[in-house]
Amino acid sequence: VFLQTILIGDSGVGKTSLLVQFDQGKFIPGSFSATVGIGFTVCIWDTAGQERFGSVTHAYYRDAHALLLLYDITSKTSFDNIRAWLTEIHEYAQSNVVIMLLGNKADMSSDRAIRRDEGERLAKEYSVPFMETSAKTGVNVELTFTAVAKELKHRA
Ligand code: GDP
Ligand code: MG
Repeated sequence: VFLQTILIGDSGVGKTSLLVQFDQGKFIPGSFSATVGIGFTVCIWDTAGQERFGSVTHAYYRDAHALLLLYDITSKTSFDNIRAWLTEIHEYAQSNVVIMLLGNKADMSSDRAIRRDEGERLAKEYSVPFMETSAKTGVNVELTFTAVAKELKHRA
């Protein structure tokens, strides 16, 4: 079974960096496949060049089992745009899609524009899990992908 996970959010929030951080495995080798289980393959897709509303191909949304929605904790604009991304997701994605909200660049606390509790509140409003991550230091990256894998397994 192929489970597709897609990274979504404004340009510059760290989607590609997060994927690189995950791929390069600063997590325990094998732990991810152990979480998902034998017979399950989770593919993670980046959305380079599709970072404005209306530009993520509808087929991407339709075929996605999980969506990781990112903002940058140092960018109010990227946070404000999360509502628009969620509107688009709810319009095109499957109703049982696993969604997770991520406040990335958590290492840049001196430039922080969005407090953690603002992220938490928005996530709560949309009933999605929330995590602050750093693609730079790897903070919460493994935890994020493991949580998504567990949720996917649960719903499969
Ligand atoms: P994308 O457009 O969403 O794919 O964003 P990128 O992955 O290309 O990242 C945009 C910029 O932010 C790059 O200069 C990255 O090095 C930087 N960046 C991404 N994630 C982090 C992070 O967690 N912490 C810090 N300090 N910089 C980050
Ligand atoms: Mg990118």
